[in-house]
Amino acid sequence: MSLLVMKFGGTSVGNATAIAALAAITRDHLATWDHAVVVVSAMSGVTDLLLKGASTAAAGDAASYKRIAASLREKHAAALAELVPDGADAAATRGPIEQLIDEFELLCHSVGVLGEASPRAIDAISSLGERMSVRLVAAALRARGIAAEAIDATEFVITSPHFTSAVPIQPQTRERTRERLLPLLERGAVPVVTGFIGATESGATTTLGRGGSDYSGAIIGAALDADEVAIYTDVDGVMTTDPRLVPDARVIPAISFAEMGELAYFGAKVLHPRTIRPVVEHGIPLRIRNTFNAAHPGTLVVSAPEANGRAIKAVTAIKSMSMITVEGRGMIGVPGVAARTFGAVASVGANVLMISQASSEQSICFVVPFSASAAVVHSLEDGLANELARRDVDRIWARDDVVIVTAVGAGMRETPGVASQVFGTLAERHINVVAIAQGSSECSISVVVSSADADAAVRAIHALTI
Ligand code: ADP
Ligand code: ASP
Ligand code: MG
Repeated sequence: MSLLVMKFGGTSVGNATAIAALAAITRDHLATWDHAVVVVSAMSGVTDLLLKGASTAAAGDAASYKRIAASLREKHAAALAELVPDGADAAATRGPIEQLIDEFELLCHSVGVLGEASPRAIDAISSLGERMSVRLVAAALRARGIAAEAIDATEFVITSPHFTSAVPIQPQTRERTRERLLPLLERGAVPVVTGFIGATESGATTTLGRGGSDYSGAIIGAALDADEVAIYTDVDGVMTTDPRLVPDARVIPAISFAEMGELAYFGAKVLHPRTIRPVVEHGIPLRIRNTFNAAHPGTLVVSAPEANGRAIKAVTAIKSMSMITVEGRGMIGVPGVAARTFGAVASVGANVLMISQASSEQSICFVVPFSASAAVVHSLEDGLANELARRDVDRIWARDDVVIVTAVGAGMRETPGVASQVFGTLAERHINVVAIAQGSSECSISVVVSSADADAAVRAIHALTI
């Protein structure tokens, strides 16, 4: 029994033409695979609109969410009318989608009354996009002769109560997913499941974070012991860099889990960083493919890296970062300062993306998202108050407006001089490197540069991949 789990992203369900392409791909795969599960994102732009509805409602603006509701009705109705002929199934699909938009208006109204959108309310609102798109896509598949059934993952992806960035809980998720989906597969149906969303054990809707539908595909693939997980998107595969920035970026035919993990972690939007782990743990092959160029084999993510003769395979950037520096002569040899520093960072829930190799022991530098910068500095000032008073720590400061640019390639481990190539090419272009770090897996080198230099740095390092 072979099973393929396919995840289709926002642009892949963005309009009737895209959904028709999704249906054709599903039909083609059903000729060779025994079973298929389809996981989908919201139609492109919909999650942004839903979130905008929530934030404008919280600010006391009742007109915006009503306008958004009208445009969501129009967008889904237009796609449905094009994909599904008038009749019972079209009507049975239109009704529930309309109800979900009614629910959106009701939730925004409540947010307006409270004057605040709690993380829980945000998740209830942002989950609606996927709940609408599964209904639309399943009806489109049925209209093309595929026995599809729309299903909300809130029924079986059981998560932590961390609203807006929940994580699935095992073994509940695996058990419930198998219980719900295996009987459907056995009777030859194709489940069309919401990406992005789950529910707590007590049934509150959660989301897995922006871009989280990829993660849903991996969670469901792992739970069902799928033979492959295919992520369908709007580019031919994982490329040497973001093609929107460097038009001559090339598709990478095979990339290792470790390399893909670094790329995703350091900002390559093509795959949500959490997607890798569930599939690695179950040894499931992962493929990234193009909905709009179905004949292209895409990128295969494999366990062992494949040498392509280049130490640097790809480059990526993660923007809107801040570099925090804790500086002081008295830090030399004083135990516990680092522990207290990172304790203070953790206490405000900030994510440290990289810790830089300081040139001396006199400072600790690390990078956090800009959005957390002010809170981190305050927390450090509190946590290190004694050191500051004693002048063991002289200064705690944030440099905002920086970007982490990361070169990735398993070949770096064996190739001497990769770092000097990276710094050489940046120096030639007069790009100042603020800090550096090497990934623990030894297949990445990151440099921090100012925002103004970010694109030039990516282009310069990209030239080294050719
Ligand atoms: P989806 O809605 O299908 O999940 P995303 O927009 O989340 O699609 O991700 C696909 C986009 O990621 C591409 O259109 C591309 O612009 C961007 N991207 C960034 N870095 C890379 C990369 N290294 N390889 C391929 N695409 C990349
Ligand atoms: N619809 C969600 C988002 O826009 C999840 C996803 O597309 O992966 O973030
Ligand atoms: Mg995505």
